[in-house]
Formats: sequence, C-alpha cells, structure tokens
Amino acid sequence: MAKIPFVTKDQVIEIAKTCPTPFHIYDEKGIRENARLVRKAFSWNPGYREYFAVKATPNPYLMKILAEEGCGMDCSSLTELMLSEAIGCTGENIMFSSNVTPAEEYVKCGELGGLINLDDLTHVDFLAGLMEIPKKISCRFNPGGVVTVSNGIMDNPGDAKYGMTRDQIKEAFRRLRELGAEEFGIHSFLVSNTVTNDYYPMLAKQLFELAVEIKEEIGVHITFINLSGGVGIPYLPDQEPNDILAIGEGVRRVYEEILVPNGMDDVAIYTEMGRFMMAPYGHLVTQAIHEKHIYKEYIGVDACAANLMRPAMYGAYHHITVLGKEDAPCDHLYDVTGSLCENNDKFAIDRMLPKIEKGDYLVIHDTGAHGFSMGYNYNGRLRSAELLLQEDGSVKMIRRAETPKDYFATFDFSPEYGSLAE
Ligand SMILES: *Cc1c(COP(=O)(O)O)cnc(C)c1O
Repeated sequence: MAKIPFVTKDQVIEIAKTCPTPFHIYDEKGIRENARLVRKAFSWNPGYREYFAVKATPNPYLMKILAEEGCGMDCSSLTELMLSEAIGCTGENIMFSSNVTPAEEYVKCGELGGLINLDDLTHVDFLAGLMEIPKKISCRFNPGGVVTVSNGIMDNPGDAKYGMTRDQIKEAFRRLRELGAEEFGIHSFLVSNTVTNDYYPMLAKQLFELAVEIKEEIGVHITFINLSGGVGIPYLPDQEPNDILAIGEGVRRVYEEILVPNGMDDVAIYTEMGRFMMAPYGHLVTQAIHEKHIYKEYIGVDACAANLMRPAMYGAYHHITVLGKEDAPCDHLYDVTGSLCENNDKFAIDRMLPKIEKGDYLVIHDTGAHGFSMGYNYNGRLRSAELLLQEDGSVKMIRRAETPKDYFATFDFSPEYGSLAE
C-alpha cells in the first residue's frame, strides 16, 4: 500500500513562508477518525477507556483533541501529570503508569485523584508512607519468560525491568486490601509495536486467567484490566495494518470465554495506546539542503536525529515521500542524513527514491508518536515547531520552534542572554 502524505507540496510551500522547515505536522482529521474507531472496537465493553500514553506525543493541543474523543491520559512523570492537569484532565481521567517513581510524583497524582498503577511490590508500602491508599488501584504484572505473538513478533518480558511476578502481584493485592483498597486492576505490557491482530487477545487471555485465579485465591474485587500499549502501525509501505475492530472483537471473545463464566462480567477494559493513536497522523517535514557524492550518494536535510531519533536509536524504518515527486520513479539510491556529528544520523540508508534536488521538501512518515517527544539537543540542535493541520484545512502552530535563547536558558552564560553573575 502506498503511503500518501496528508500535506501536498503546495501546502508545505505556503506553510514554510511563516514556519521554516523542519517541523512536525499532525493531521487532526486522521487523529479523530482513528480515535472513534478505537472506541467503536471496544464499545461492547461498557467501562472501556483508552488512556492515551502522553509520552508518545506530549502536546496539550493534541491531548485535548484525544480527550474530546473520550480518551483519558496515561502519565508516567511529573510533567506529564502537569500537562494532563493543564488540559483539565484530572481524577480517574488520569492513569499513572510509572516506574522507579519519585515520591513527589505519587503525591502529585494523589492530589489530582488519578488512578495509580504500581510497578513493584515495594511501592505498596512506599505509597502508604505518602498518602492514604486509594480505594481503586492497580498493579503491573510481568509474566517473565519469552512471549511470541505471531509472524515472528516476540519480546522478552523476563529481561524487562517492569512489573511484578505472579506471587508478588497477589501479595501486593493482599497488602493493598489491608490498607483499605477496594477495587483492583491488573496491567501488563509485553511487546511493543505489534503489527498483528493477535497481541491484545493473547495478552487479554493471560490477564483474564490471572484475574480469575486472584479472585478465587484472594477474593478481591477486580474491576478493570489494562492492556496497556504495544499495538503497532505499519511503518513499511507493504505491511498489513492492524484492524482495530478485529482486535476489539478478539478481546471480546476471550472476555466471554474466561471472565463471563466466572462471574466477572463487570470488568472494564482499559488500553494505553500511544503509537496506534498518533504515529500515522504525524509527519516530519524537512528540506534537502545539500547533496554529496563520495563513496555513496547523500542527501543532507535540515532535520536531524534530534528531531526524530527512532532511525538512529532503533534502526527504525520511516517511509519518505519527496513532495511533488509522488509519481516519479524511485531510481536513485540515497542515504538521507541530518547534520549531527554522529554517523547514525540517517533517516534512510540505501533507499530508492526519486532524484532529489536541493530545495525539495521531504515528508518523513509516521512521526506522530515517539517522534518529536524523543527529541534532544545534541550538537546544540534545537527542537522544531509542531503544527496542526486542522479539520477545516487551516494550519495552527501548537508549539513554536526552540531558539538559541531556549538553549542558553538553563545556564544563562552569555553577554547576549545575561550571565550567571547577574
Ligand atoms: C510507552 C507506554 C505505553 C504506550 O506504548 P505504545 O507502544 O506507544 O502504544 C503505554 N503504557 C506504558 C506504561 C508505556 O510505558
């Protein structure tokens, strides 16, 4: 399937007049339509809620769009909690799925009335030392071992730092009950970016069986099960995308098979998707500013890994469209690179693309999640602006680009920006 950008060359030329490249741009229409489809997929479950994983795209304007579509916010740090508060998302609209959590962050979540998801058994008493244990609370489960989903997708929870063992989660529930908790939830995140409809149903089966076991052994009231994130998107153009309706239906079938016969038909399903909610609806738009011919052919662009780290960090594939050359033959072999003094600063390696001229605009696809948010300031590179292509076709700046002044702000050491001595 061809990947078609949601902006045209003419639109980008117009945008670049007031907001120079590079920038991230998001597609409001795509975000809303997808969020509605997610809701529909789980509409069989009256208590269903998607808590958007804020770390994927922590911009309050985008969070607000998702909140309008019925999402809560899944946070894992103080500033993410503050972002949720800033958009008016508090109480049970917040899920706090953190790990190695500092005391002040639990306290902040407690003040906001958010749902707390504990990553470790020791955090039960850590939390009890900070506040009254909330009536409704959840714990993160790690089954250990190696998980295989389908078509070779696997991960290694036994090697992951998250969650509690089977015995520990039971112990945590007993202790939480002693401390006053009344409603319990189970959370788990086993595999990232699963491009298969089997992952959630497979995880749901494990968690539902555990819930039945815990109910029988301990007798606590389990009211929600959180399937967390991990639903992937097709970064490659020939990958079959997930069918969220089929995924929802797969979870429903396991629910009917395991929970309902055990008298647990009041359990709400929660999800914490980040990537699936946002990744396809973001582009990084960048301009070709140099070409270089040595042992390979290089196109140098004005974005770099500081704007999108996934290729450098994971060797991740991000599709590239050269705007205005959508139908041109891909008959040139390029490495598309940024300017960092790091040889892994490449958006594409050995990629067949149309002939690129200096000045061409390139769309780097699927940057709407874990894109801007993983940005950093290496080499003194600055974070770009974020723009929103609104449903009416107009473009709104939802975060300005950083300036050198922002870079200097934390040390204030320059005649121009004021010095530490002042
Ligand atoms: C990162 C994360 C998510 C979101 O993961 P995606 O792969 O973006 O769906 C959800 N929950 C927790 C606890 C996470 O750390």
